Amino acid sequence: MADFIPVYEPVLGGNEKKYVLDCLETGWISSLGKYVPEFEQEFSSFCSRKFGVSVANGTVALQLALMALDIREGDEVIVPDLTFVATANAVSYTGAKPVFVDSEPDTWNMDPSRIEEKITKKTKAIIPVSLFGHPCDMDPILEIAKDHELFVIEDAAEAHGSEYKGRKSGSFGDVSCFSFYGNKIITTGEGGMCVTDNEKLANEMRFLKDHGMSSEKRYWHSKVGFNFRMTNIQAAIGVAQLEQIGKFIESKRKIARQYNSLLKDVKGISLPPEMPWAKSVYWMYSILVGDDYGMSRDELAARLKAAKIDSRPFFYPMHQLPMYKSERQFPVAERLSAQGLNLPSSPMLSKEDIERICRVIAEK
Ligand SMILES: *Cc1c(COP(=O)(O)O)cnc(C)c1O
Repeated sequence: MADFIPVYEPVLGGNEKKYVLDCLETGWISSLGKYVPEFEQEFSSFCSRKFGVSVANGTVALQLALMALDIREGDEVIVPDLTFVATANAVSYTGAKPVFVDSEPDTWNMDPSRIEEKITKKTKAIIPVSLFGHPCDMDPILEIAKDHELFVIEDAAEAHGSEYKGRKSGSFGDVSCFSFYGNKIITTGEGGMCVTDNEKLANEMRFLKDHGMSSEKRYWHSKVGFNFRMTNIQAAIGVAQLEQIGKFIESKRKIARQYNSLLKDVKGISLPPEMPWAKSVYWMYSILVGDDYGMSRDELAARLKAAKIDSRPFFYPMHQLPMYKSERQFPVAERLSAQGLNLPSSPMLSKEDIERICRVIAEK
């Protein structure tokens, strides 16, 4: 019987062990130590940003960005209906209300043409999410934000290194947030970062993430701050991962090409988007299982499981979850959520693995 193929596995084949051992041997295991500023500088410059503020995970990166922009109770923040729940939850933590926008059929991301109808006097910010590694159509989003004086916070947690019109995801808007969870493009185990070009905003985020302590006067706290710090050990892994990011992205794009060529003629299967203006990093290689495929998405997932192949259904649309329940219509997000399936996407996946997976999908 063939081996089990997981949906994701981190690749830790570089200097991770060496740098972590360095932390252990020198005793710098907490959030002070050389790897934290090194990772912040290198990752922010990878995103073409001036400042990087590392944090404990991608969810608090979003929360920190929102709080530093003074978003609070009574405010509204526009987010996609189809995203990982953390995007909406981060808004809720500040007391503000997430307002959902339906997906765009071509990119699976928030539909820029449906944003303006959701803007009210209370709207303060837009959080575009680059779902599964495909960048958002940023020009219209930035234009709407400018017209209505809204902040833009990129949730690029799934899109490290992807590009919009030749510009890196993470370089748009006021601040961009990343996750380094175990299955993200690069990982620190758990971890996250906010990147920005705005020095004042970077300083406010540094202040809030470290108990709101004055940088001049120790143990003087002028606001209720937080402990959102990343450890030196996490940052050490991050520095080693960042050394390999080019290789990871290259192999993920190659894996996507192999999947595409084996699945393009399978009736009822839609391939993941890549717009002419986009470079996707295919965080998750994702397909849609259409009505004419002959079995449902869940039936296909069960078949794959029987063949020892792991997969994941798409996220539920936010408006279907109990805490965000809404009777409004989000037909595109609903269809994508019902038909979407993430296939195994580890950068180390072999051609033979991909052929085995595609055989199960094609020879039903
Ligand atoms: C992973 C993810 C997050 C949250 O990151 P964590 O590090 O798991 O907290 C936020 N938004 C999106 C779109 C994600 O995929």
